[in-house]
Amino acid sequence: MAGKGLIVSVSGPSGVGKGTILEAIRKRYPECKQSISVTTRAPRGTEQDGVEYYFRTREQFEQLLADGEILEYDEYVGNYYGTPLTPLIKATEAGDDILLDITIAGTLALEEKYPLAISIFILPPSFEQLAERLKGRGTETDELIKMRMEKAKEEILSAKKFDYVVVNDNLEEAVDNIVAIMKAERCRYERNEGIEKTL
Ligand code: 5GP
Repeated sequence: MAGKGLIVSVSGPSGVGKGTILEAIRKRYPECKQSISVTTRAPRGTEQDGVEYYFRTREQFEQLLADGEILEYDEYVGNYYGTPLTPLIKATEAGDDILLDITIAGTLALEEKYPLAISIFILPPSFEQLAERLKGRGTETDELIKMRMEKAKEEILSAKKFDYVVVNDNLEEAVDNIVAIMKAERCRYERNEGIEKTL
């Protein structure tokens, strides 16, 4: 699956701001597409099938898995989430860069299958700031925030398995860093194999 486009997977603990970072990248570079995952969770608010996610039943998801149509998947809070394979292949073959917003375990599974995928771990500037952001959402109880912080401390230990780490201290800087990573990755020899013979 070595298309021309990049596959960039962005992960990090809950509340670290990866959704905002990815949105800012897509705004700045509309040629960067975000993969639409398949999920068994119910749509929230204004979410629409085929826009934020493909909403499917558990049986449908399991059938896609059995058909080899899911590149990687994970179970998160009782629901399946997976990256569909065919649209990803088509997009990268067409030269589009694809951004993935997936769990840490999902990124690690993706790297196993497709080592040229670029894995980026987003770190908060500090645990205090992560706690502040979680509180700022205003949707979670103190107990839940405490649980998420414990989980974040454990998850952050996975950073060493990723290709890159980006600290989300300042949104613009985090976006600039990811764009710079993508630029450098396009120059990797593996992505340009045989180029010297074409001169
Ligand atoms: P939410 O339900 O809040 O939209 O997403 C929950 C979590 O599932 C987020 O951490 C998101 O990154 C992750 N997620 C969404 N799609 C996928 C996917 O295709 N694969 C994996 N492994 N995780 C996903």
